[in-house]
Amino acid sequence: MTHDIHEVLHRVFGYPGFLGHQQAVIEHTVAGGDSLVLMPTGGGKSLCYQIPAIVREGMGVVVSPLIALMRDQVEGLRQAGVRAACLNSTLTWREVQEVEAAALSGALDLLYVAPERLLGERTLELLSRIRLALFAIDEAHCVSQWGHDFRPEYLQLSALHDRFPAVPRIALTATADEPTRREIVRRLGLGRAARFVSGFDRPNIRYAVVPKNRARQQLLRFLEERHRGHAGIVYCLSRRRVDDTAAWLRGEGIDALPYHAGLSGETRQRHQDRFQREEGVVMVATVAFGMGIDKPDVRFVAHLDLPKSIEAYYQETGRAGRDGEPADAWMVYGLQEVVTLRHMVENSEAGEARKRVELRKLDAMLGYCELATCRRRTLLSYFGEDLPEDCGNCDNCLTPVTTWDATEAARKAMSCVSRTGQRFGAAYLIDVLRGRDTERIRRFGHDRLPTYGVGADLGPFEWRSVFRQLVARGLLSVDVEGYGSIRLTGDSRPVLRGDVEVLMRRDVRPTPRKSRRQRGETGSPPDPATWDEALWEALRKRRTELASAQGVPPYVIFHDSTLREMIAHRPRTPDDFSRLSGVGDTKLHRYGADFLGVIAAHEGDSAPG
Ligand code: ADP
Ligand code: ZN
Repeated sequence: MTHDIHEVLHRVFGYPGFLGHQQAVIEHTVAGGDSLVLMPTGGGKSLCYQIPAIVREGMGVVVSPLIALMRDQVEGLRQAGVRAACLNSTLTWREVQEVEAAALSGALDLLYVAPERLLGERTLELLSRIRLALFAIDEAHCVSQWGHDFRPEYLQLSALHDRFPAVPRIALTATADEPTRREIVRRLGLGRAARFVSGFDRPNIRYAVVPKNRARQQLLRFLEERHRGHAGIVYCLSRRRVDDTAAWLRGEGIDALPYHAGLSGETRQRHQDRFQREEGVVMVATVAFGMGIDKPDVRFVAHLDLPKSIEAYYQETGRAGRDGEPADAWMVYGLQEVVTLRHMVENSEAGEARKRVELRKLDAMLGYCELATCRRRTLLSYFGEDLPEDCGNCDNCLTPVTTWDATEAARKAMSCVSRTGQRFGAAYLIDVLRGRDTERIRRFGHDRLPTYGVGADLGPFEWRSVFRQLVARGLLSVDVEGYGSIRLTGDSRPVLRGDVEVLMRRDVRPTPRKSRRQRGETGSPPDPATWDEALWEALRKRRTELASAQGVPPYVIFHDSTLREMIAHRPRTPDDFSRLSGVGDTKLHRYGADFLGVIAAHEGDSAPG
């Protein structure tokens, strides 16, 4: 058996070895055991059920919540020569019948099914007439009612076991927290299943948070400096901001598209398709753009607004770099968002207990933003994982944060809050502190307060940082009903009295834009010894041609990492080509000559003499 699974890994998928728990999960499933697999995004969950479905007798059934995701998985499998199909609501009657006939005649290794379809009597009846290799329940956290991806149909999946007790089941998810795990086990009746829990670290993702200071300009700069021509996602809180940001980016020459629940289903589909199938599309989206993203080469996830919780943040940023290549999780944040988000929570329909939980989660998120230490350590510890040392790949590790004694500044800020009656937002308070001469300040007579002008030594950027950090630590609070007016809290007094010292992180004001020449570099520098930009472009061009001729996304032909291997190893023969990671028999057969041709032509061009 061990022999079989390795053989399939090499021959079909073209990979040299297994990753993480893959081999253990696959062996367990091939032997007929149930399992619960928790692996981070990009950890390689799909192979965990695809290989057993191929090796075991019969057809594997995969329950997957999203049609777009299903379609691309099936396409990817077919490219590798695996006999796969799907059943969902986008098929015509005729297509459904063809798929059913193929399943009945034993011509399928894998069948992907939407949950509502699976539990219909017609499908259950069909399955009862077929030899089944396994059931895989992908995105198993959709069964959790507290989770953000809850799908009511998932609750009924427990029926599978009752109806097909002898068929092994494998539930998979990238959602890490313990309550969700327990709920999956309980609702799917997996109490006796083996658990395979991987570390949730995503070392190839670089985490960074920057204080908001003209967010769009900051975003543009980030894109120009690190991600020219790369595919990525920009998350915003509201539909309007999505539309505005996408339009603005397009005006700046970036191939950006909007995505939110207010667009028609057809527009959303079209945008998702372009994102998925073309290279270098930037999707500006609300969280409505989520689970269905199965694109391995998303190079960055940017947040222009604060996510609601660390879980949501980790899941959203986790969509970057599934292929294991360097990727960025980048966020700008400011005090205004805290006000907006709190307001949303407090005015939601949720019960009091739920609101308290959500506010606590928001506070944890704030704490994360204001960290002065390794961000990855904090993120992982939130999921119960200990990183023995700092990661070296987050902003705080790369540019260590300095702190400053902000005791005086904090007292001035608090005193200003108190003397103006706890009725004003940070922008106004900063004007008073800095002694600005405005009509509004004169009208309220605040130019006669003792705190007027006492903060002229700091600029607006520094003051915003002070207020943000005071709020993040609960030393001041924001009254969401009073339009963001800042108030004192129980913890303010000792600071005001000068009894405690306040140390703050020193936020660095963004520097002016770099020159064009300096902006040329990209996020993931390839190995300079073998890198060849012209060959890279030629290989990508060939891949795009092959993909569009078949109407499939380029990465189902070959991932970027396989193209990079072609550049590093310059294969000359089919035998050389078959040794590249990501080249299985079918792909060698279908595309080997094409790409070998591109490489040979290029070598001819660049050969000396
Ligand atoms: P997940 O579903 O856990 O997010 P995928 O199954 O999509 O992850 O796999 C993530 C990436 O890793 C894909 O690009 C896949 O081709 C690649 N991959 C999976 N298993 C292996 C392996 N054993 N060797 C090399 N690459 C792998
Ligand atoms: Zn770090």
